[in-house]
Parts: sequence; structure tokens; C-alpha cells
Amino acid sequence: MFVDSHCHINFPDFANDLDGVLERMAESKVEKALCVSVNLVTFPDVLKIATRYENVYASVGIHPNEKETTSKISVDDLCLLSDHKEVVAIGETGLDYFRAEKGSLEWQKARFRAHIKCAREVQKPLIIHTRDAKEDTIKIMREEGAEKIGGVMHCFTETFEMAQEAMDMGFMISFSGIVTFKNASQVKEVASRVPLEFILIETDSPYLAPVPHRGATNEPSYVRYVAEELSKIKSTDLSKIALTTTDNFHKLFKV
Ligand SMILES: [Zn+2]
Ligand SMILES: [Zn+2]
Repeated sequence: MFVDSHCHINFPDFANDLDGVLERMAESKVEKALCVSVNLVTFPDVLKIATRYENVYASVGIHPNEKETTSKISVDDLCLLSDHKEVVAIGETGLDYFRAEKGSLEWQKARFRAHIKCAREVQKPLIIHTRDAKEDTIKIMREEGAEKIGGVMHCFTETFEMAQEAMDMGFMISFSGIVTFKNASQVKEVASRVPLEFILIETDSPYLAPVPHRGATNEPSYVRYVAEELSKIKSTDLSKIALTTTDNFHKLFKV
């Protein structure tokens, strides 16, 4: 069995077919999914889905690319929102300088710090999104004591050195459908070097559908293609990839 550690099935893409998404998960032996929050406006939908389906979990957080003006949050408010049994993680949070608007990114950093403080306070692991912001991400994780709570570097596309620094702080590394792309040689190389005990798998659906569905709407049942690719890269039985990544998920999110 497989687990999709990061998806966005609350997005409009799935509004008319949620039962279908869950059915196809069952057919593909994807037994659990974590529906990840990207802002506070849609968080109630995330929570609703996690309440409705026993095998879907929720997180609460604000994506780094959500605008400063519409997405201010205090540590206390975030902690309050996380107080549901369905909410197993804080995020996605982090830094994304690739898609960010020009200008000062101090607010992005401040919001990232608030998420780490909250995660430590409520003792729920972090889901970290990082793009083109390697040094600052690691620096803030260190300064805020992220190693005291741990979490996952999701949809990882950075260097092995960064993965190692995150693993040293007790973070897992999650690979998405990108690892199946022909031109993703760096991600494949990183995946070959990260020990299986530190690996999670995810779809980040509706984005980034893996080969052979590249370009289509992604969904949690496709996470098995990520596992199959890892099985090739690591010359390890698919069953062992499935078992260990599922185990890692259970340990990290305490479900
Ligand atoms: Zn992300
Ligand atoms: Zn995401």
C-alpha cells in the first residue's frame, strides 16, 4: 500500500469528483492522503474533506506565494486553527523566491518563522516548500529550532547537500512526479542518495502528474508511479518502497 503525503484535493479541479478520486485511490492501493492547506480562506474545505474521509488528513498553513496583504497570521491564530484531530501538520510554509513578486521578501520570511514557532508549540511537524531560496530556508530553520519538531521538505528539487542539511535536522525528503520526468536527472540523483528511511512520496496534485500521465490533472492514485520510479532508481522491490515510505509517513505525522 501507498500513501500520498502531499495533495490538494480541495482544489476546484476535484470538486465534482471527490468520491471518484477516493475510489481510484482504493483501486490503486493508495490507502491514505494528506490534503495540504495553502491559505486560510480554503482551509475550512481542507478540514471538511479530512473530516468526511477517514483516510484523508489535513494540514494548516499559508503557502509562501500567497500575498502578504491578504495572508497575515499570528502564531497564536495559527495554533488555534491547528487544534483539530484531523490536522496532523503545519504548512505548507517556507520560502519561494522563484514565483515571488519583486521587492522585499521579509514578510515571507516572517510568515515562515511564525509557522515554525507554531509547529513547535503545538508539536505538529512542518511541511516545508522551498524554491530558489536554499540558504535562507536552512538558515531560518536553524534559527527557529525547526529540528526540535522536524517535518518534511516537500516536492524536493534542490541539491543533495540541502537534503542532507534538512535530514540532519530530522526532516524527511518527499519526492513528487518530477522524479519520473526524463529531464529530471538531478532529482533522480538526489533520490538515489537519500536513504529510504528518510523518503516520503507525494503527488502535489493537481499539479505535476507523473509519467505516463504528464500534463494531465494529477491525483493521489498516481503516487504509485513515483514509488515505481524510486524502485527503479534504488534497485529495490516496489513492496519495500511502499512499506517504508508508508511507515515513514505514520512515524512523522503520528497517524
Ligand atoms: Zn509546495
Ligand atoms: Zn503543495
